[in-house]
Amino acid sequence: MPDHLRDDDRLRHQDADRHANVIQELLGELHASFSGVREGRVADYIPELAKACPDDFGIVIATSGGRIYEIGDTRKEFTIQSISKPFIYALALKTLSFDFMASKIDVEPSGEAFNAISLDPDSGKPRNPMINAGAIAASAQICDADPGGAVELLLEYFEELAGRRLTINEDVYRSEKETGHRNRAIGHLLRNFNIIESDPEPALDLYFQQCAISVTCRDLAVMAATLACQGRNPFTGGHPLSYDITVRVLALMGTCGMYDFAGQWLHDVGIPAKSGVAGGVMAVIPGRLGIATYSPPLDNFGNSVRGVAVCRQLSVGVGLSLFNQYYQADATIRRSYQGSQRKSRRWRSDRELEVLAPHRDEVRIIHVQGVLDFGGIEQLASELVRLSNDVRILILDLAHVTECPMESSDLLDRQLCSIEDDGVEILLSRAGRLPLVSKTDWSITDRIDAYEHLDSALEAAEELLLSWYRPQAVAGGSGGGPDLPEQGFLAPLSEEHRRLLAECMVRRAFVAGDFVIRRGDPGDELFLVRSGSFDIALDIKTGDGHCHSTRLATFGPGLCFGEIGFVAQTPRTADIIATQPGECWVLHRSDFEALSASHPDVVIALLKALTCDIGAKLSQTSVQLTLMEHY
Ligand code: GLN
Repeated sequence: MPDHLRDDDRLRHQDADRHANVIQELLGELHASFSGVREGRVADYIPELAKACPDDFGIVIATSGGRIYEIGDTRKEFTIQSISKPFIYALALKTLSFDFMASKIDVEPSGEAFNAISLDPDSGKPRNPMINAGAIAASAQICDADPGGAVELLLEYFEELAGRRLTINEDVYRSEKETGHRNRAIGHLLRNFNIIESDPEPALDLYFQQCAISVTCRDLAVMAATLACQGRNPFTGGHPLSYDITVRVLALMGTCGMYDFAGQWLHDVGIPAKSGVAGGVMAVIPGRLGIATYSPPLDNFGNSVRGVAVCRQLSVGVGLSLFNQYYQADATIRRSYQGSQRKSRRWRSDRELEVLAPHRDEVRIIHVQGVLDFGGIEQLASELVRLSNDVRILILDLAHVTECPMESSDLLDRQLCSIEDDGVEILLSRAGRLPLVSKTDWSITDRIDAYEHLDSALEAAEELLLSWYRPQAVAGGSGGGPDLPEQGFLAPLSEEHRRLLAECMVRRAFVAGDFVIRRGDPGDELFLVRSGSFDIALDIKTGDGHCHSTRLATFGPGLCFGEIGFVAQTPRTADIIATQPGECWVLHRSDFEALSASHPDVVIALLKALTCDIGAKLSQTSVQLTLMEHY
């Protein structure tokens, strides 16, 4: 049995926190300011409900992030009553179909009391599923679909919504069953109009049972949070409802959830909500949180007096009304800069650097963040269209995109593909977490190259530039490689010095995956790449405590590595791995020392070349680091 609520680690941490949490304090203030309210009367038309204690008062907020804040009588059980209605209607939509349910129940506010006999005079359809007539009609459809298993189906479904097994309060159930003549009358009227197509008694029985499900204020808050998360329970990860059902239910809670107070409620509070005669109120801020209150005394509309007051205060006091949304400034583009501002960690020969230099700004790097909903896509699209006149490659880094809703991902697909059709290359980086699958039969990731790391996307952009702009003569450079290390950092050496050096060096071949250097090895060899590609890989511990293997640099033909340990005579600090088959010229320390004795001038020239090489690498690294600080 899932019982995530009682056993929630996060809650235990929260209890153990030494510092005051302002949300918790806010709940405390709300509780204190309304616990003295004495208005309202505990419902007594169902005799068993009259036993409730009028002083009971609890408030809970459950967030879409899976956190709970609570104060007062939040663990005390009471019956769900009418708060079952949105969920039962959702279950009917899920079990039957939207069209079928539309043929049984309307979705118009009735402007009447919860127990009004509010049926369309011609069709006999209840006005909406949030009043008794509509709720009994919805229960009847579930009952008809599976007469024997309906109660168990209901309890399993509520278990998914609340994250724990719920039971029926038999006393309240029996009490209402014995006295619920008005509801019985509604049931028979529905039967008269064929909204209920068989004996209404089993449907009424199911309705009385669903109203008598025992919940706590916490349960209601979790159920509300599930509605806030498009039907996904943020505490259990379960998905009892689909987003399209949730949208319909929330709309109905907005227009009809508070009975004939619904219009005033939406005007004053602006939050979809549902109340029950046992004293519960459940309110939902879509995408954000669920609120639940419990306080039995009711006003004339049958809504909890303190519950209404708490929601009103939250709406006004901390701006929770749906109609008071903070405007979305242009926050989707986290950073956007030219390609010359950021190079890949593939070290390049002078010749490649020369080719790349005048063309780097044909690349644009855009870091996108937040939710790519309609508003987000609009901002991104306007930036992409503006930039695509001036660039040939767009790198879109999606690491900080938290969500790409299905409804808007289609627009993203279309925008990216149309830019590609206009001849701009798009490279996606760090899109892996996102479900970038469109509703059409293809998805952008089929057409557009996606890279796991930003660095690989940067490298791919450089390779594209090289493939477009590299003169043919240079293109051969990475093929077989020269016989003598005459390129790269040894270029300034005289031919004689290079010849003497080459005599001391040996050629060593590697296959892809070979460790050329291992962390901790003695640093007694210097490598000059003849062909292939070699990565320095390091395990980096990030702020979130995870360890990632990351590449610090990649070396291709003409470049040297291993020089720091070689010069400083210190052990290796990182692994170097061949990522393709390749060859290196290797200078061993003993040969270097022999050369120092026989030809000190060669060694001086070599050390000079190494110093320049290290200096160039250091300078590029510092520039990149400094640039990053400014973004
Ligand atoms: N069981 C109650 C009834 O039908 C539910 C009404 C309510 O909570 N408003 O009367």
